[in-house]
Amino acid sequence: MEKTFLMIKPDGVGRGLVGEIVKRIENKGIKIVGAKLMTVSEDLAKTHYGEHSEKPFFGELVDFITSGPVFAMVLEGENVVEIGRTLVGKTNPAESAPGTIRGDYGMTVGKNIIHGSDSVASAEKEIALWFKEEEIIDYNLVTAAWVY
Ligand code: ADP
Ligand code: MG
Repeated sequence: MEKTFLMIKPDGVGRGLVGEIVKRIENKGIKIVGAKLMTVSEDLAKTHYGEHSEKPFFGELVDFITSGPVFAMVLEGENVVEIGRTLVGKTNPAESAPGTIRGDYGMTVGKNIIHGSDSVASAEKEIALWFKEEEIIDYNLVTAAWVY
């Protein structure tokens, strides 16, 4: 089953938006198979955003992502990479529609609340970079069994 990587950035965690964002993921029908609150080392930040290393905002981006805890998640579901990006919204919150996470909670591109993998290939790379194999849980969502 397809997997993706989402990460609530320090602004989202600091503003107390973890529950709100997790609620949207669960309500959508996406399965969470890994999740952790963690601090990000400079090395991890630079590797994760390696494709942007030549951009003028790279230093600022690395400083920001290492400035406080993030909430990292591995999500599973059919077509979940594309669906995850749709929930997240466009890179610039000003262009993100209301109803998306960045559209509802973000104001600037530098502090846009959340990261989501942009392709199946980057999802695979990012999951391997952020999570150990044993931190990803294989289980069935058995909603009906818990409803009385
Ligand atoms: P996305 O996060 O939507 O995949 P990108 O991969 O293009 O977007 O950029 C990675 C992150 O770098 C963005 O989420 C944003 O936080 C930051 N960023 C992108 N463009 C800019 C910019 N022009 N100025 C400041 N930060 C930027
Ligand atoms: Mg990107």
